Amino acid sequence: MQTHLGRKPSFTDAWNSNAPWRPHLCRDAARLSQPKHIHTKGLIMTEAVTYTGGCHCGMVRFECTADLSTVTACNCSICTKKGLHFSFIAPRSFQLRAGADGLKEYLFNRHAIKHQLCVECGVETFARGAKPDGTQVIAVNVSCIDGIELARLKMTPMDGRKF
Ligand SMILES: [Zn+2]
Repeated sequence: MQTHLGRKPSFTDAWNSNAPWRPHLCRDAARLSQPKHIHTKGLIMTEAVTYTGGCHCGMVRFECTADLSTVTACNCSICTKKGLHFSFIAPRSFQLRAGADGLKEYLFNRHAIKHQLCVECGVETFARGAKPDGTQVIAVNVSCIDGIELARLKMTPMDGRKF
């Protein structure tokens, strides 16, 4: 696995690889209160953009500001079985707009990542996690973004199977 770190990536490296707390993302998060800037062309994006998304049945809806130039293609058990592709962002860049009462939390292994499933359709729209220092992070399932075209995204391999 290629890594910009020049060494075997640790769980922390992988979890932090999207560095969602980069300053420009914080500025973009502030735009959430302004008119929406929805980008649905599906091309590889290198800037944080505000998106809407949700589960399959529509009960769970969210809004997020994410940089989709880094999306995980992880080989861990759950990402493989569910076909999950995550973008990691700061909690301030994620707003749950509907369905808060319709979420089931799924935990496994060390319970480090709290997967959020719609109780109606079962789709996992996002997960909650924390860095080792306690900083909270949201993993958005980019497949749940409205109008997304996965084939146009650049996937970043993540060796989650070893974590
Ligand atoms: Zn649903």
